[in-house]
Amino acid sequence: MRSTVLIRPPQSPRLIAALEIMLVLLFYGHAANARRTATGLLNKLSATTRTSNFVVMHEPEDPFLARLLARTAEAELKRIAANLGYKITNSKPFRLYVFSSHADFLEAGGLEIGKLTVGTASLSTEEISVDASGVFDLPERILAHEITHAVIFRLLGALAVEMPLWMHEGLAKYESREPAAYDDEMIATAAAEGSVIPLSKLRNSFPKSRTGLAYAESASVVRFLVARFGRNAPRKLIENLNKTGSFDQAMINVTGYSTTAFEREWHKEISKRYEGLRRIRLATAFFSVLMAALAVMAYLARRIQKADGANSYDGDASSCEPDEADNNY
Ligand SMILES: [Zn+2]
Repeated sequence: MRSTVLIRPPQSPRLIAALEIMLVLLFYGHAANARRTATGLLNKLSATTRTSNFVVMHEPEDPFLARLLARTAEAELKRIAANLGYKITNSKPFRLYVFSSHADFLEAGGLEIGKLTVGTASLSTEEISVDASGVFDLPERILAHEITHAVIFRLLGALAVEMPLWMHEGLAKYESREPAAYDDEMIATAAAEGSVIPLSKLRNSFPKSRTGLAYAESASVVRFLVARFGRNAPRKLIENLNKTGSFDQAMINVTGYSTTAFEREWHKEISKRYEGLRRIRLATAFFSVLMAALAVMAYLARRIQKADGANSYDGDASSCEPDEADNNY
């Protein structure tokens, strides 16, 4: 299973489709990619920089970039580990592959070029790969996103698959501290159109045609979880999932709501928040229909008026017809 997440806020929905910047979370399919990383470009990433919690594989020509990323990764790991309840153990460092070229990153991971993927994290090996070129997104944000995945994988082990994809990606987006404005705009549009994707449809994969909205919703749900149930809610959720083995039970224990009821609460919240926008859009739509109707009516009125005018002209003309009888013209 493999999923993608939209992380860059473009300016308009049309632009979104063109500028989808994806982070990829590989659950099972990662193994082949990891092997490719290890073999295909191993010669290129021949230098190693070690820090307390990371073994950073990078190109020898770019030690500065590797050191910078390693420092950032350490800082992000400490923050994210504290938030999610992971006790850092230096004896089990994360392997971090740093690519200074987007093309190399894609090639190493066997990733689709069109999707502009910029980071991956592997469930079984906990390996993280990042496009550190900075062309498509900030490396620190990519790192935070992927480190969140890796920490959750480490905390949950095999139970990671019990956590729905929307929660995985929502937590990763939340911890990477992406601005909420872009997500909010997408959700506002979806809420106004009544096209919000139910979370049950985002449990194992995201729809290819609406990936951006799927990630925006995931982040929105996690922000709602934290706002309503506190900053420790994600940590408690992971702890409870570990204890019970059931995500739905963990949701009940932490929030008092089943996953379905929790989704209803979130939906109520976004509906309330975007009700004003929905009304404006409905009013705009009504006004457009009204204007179109008025334009049609005006056109028909003009046609009738013209027809009347033409009839009276014809009448006048007939009266001007040459009167053959008396040869008057
Ligand atoms: Zn992700």
